[in-house]
Amino acid sequence: ARPTCPNSISKVRVIIRVRPFLPSEIFSRNGNPLSCVSVLDDSSLEVTVRLKDQETSRNECYKLDNFFGQEDYNVNQIFQREVSPLIPGVFHGCNATVFAYGATGSGKTYTMQGSEELPGVMPLAMSSILSMCRSTGSVAEISYYEVYMDRCYDLLELKPKEIAVMDDKDGQIHLKGLARVPVSSMSEFSEAFSCAVQRRKVAHTGLNDVSSRSHGVLVISVSTPSKDGSGDFITGKLNLIDLAGNEDNRRTCNEGIRLQESAKINQSLFALSIVVYALNNNQPRVPYRESKLTRILQDSLGGTSRALMVACLNPGEYQESVHTVSLAARSRHV
Ligand code: ADP
Ligand code: MG
Repeated sequence: ARPTCPNSISKVRVIIRVRPFLPSEIFSRNGNPLSCVSVLDDSSLEVTVRLKDQETSRNECYKLDNFFGQEDYNVNQIFQREVSPLIPGVFHGCNATVFAYGATGSGKTYTMQGSEELPGVMPLAMSSILSMCRSTGSVAEISYYEVYMDRCYDLLELKPKEIAVMDDKDGQIHLKGLARVPVSSMSEFSEAFSCAVQRRKVAHTGLNDVSSRSHGVLVISVSTPSKDGSGDFITGKLNLIDLAGNEDNRRTCNEGIRLQESAKINQSLFALSIVVYALNNNQPRVPYRESKLTRILQDSLGGTSRALMVACLNPGEYQESVHTVSLAARSRHV
């Protein structure tokens, strides 16, 4: 069945989330840290953000769709205001994508994954979808994979296995053999999700905490019985992505494999920003094929799909923040 979407805007909303200073950061700044980000002007349609360097006091302004500051907002509010509106479309066959963008340490995983005490966007979306499934008779399934060095790995498998990315004859992208696990309760979700998260931490190198060097993608697919009584199902999916941290190699002094990883990460993030820019500016050609990540997301970015980019900032990192916000603002530029 052809999806009838409540709202066929293909634009990608671009919002900012600034994490608070951590206790250790407050301590090392003698209890008085100054944030490099502030809101200059908050009108109903857009926010102007000012980035300020402590030494040079250089101001730079950028326009964005929404701003969630250090103290004001928790993940529930971001979820309610920005993510929740994307969910009903999924039940009408429209795909949606939320991705967290930013440097390592800026709060991407905290926002998307969260913790047991403070669930992030991923579990919040699952919970909301499950309660909607109960009233619509829909069925939800999840997949979880990561994209590392332009290769795709299934993290719902006991031993993460590489998945081939294939084009079928209609030009649709398929992740061949990717596991799909039916989920009908939050306890089923938590079990599969926490295993996948654990695998993402140690995949590839066996070392801990390499998770920030891959893109982690949770897909929640929803099949809804069609209302025409044909027995058909309408399927839609929500992609929730914890992107790899963008890096500045001049600062991190990466070498060897780290440098190669970093080059791949930056290349794929750049490709993503170009795709978002093309969509937001109604360009006739959207360059999905420039990276593995954008190729995989092709059916969930543009067309009738809706997307949200959450640019995450560490308030104590001026250079990183300039980089993240300028990319975010550039992607949004209309
Ligand atoms: P990233 O995934 O971007 O590398 P993390 O999500 O791991 O960053 O966050 C870095 C650190 O900051 C972690 O210790 C995390 O708990 C903390 N943190 C991030 N966002 C918040 C927030 N909104 N409130 C409190 N602590 C946060
Ligand atoms: Mg992370």
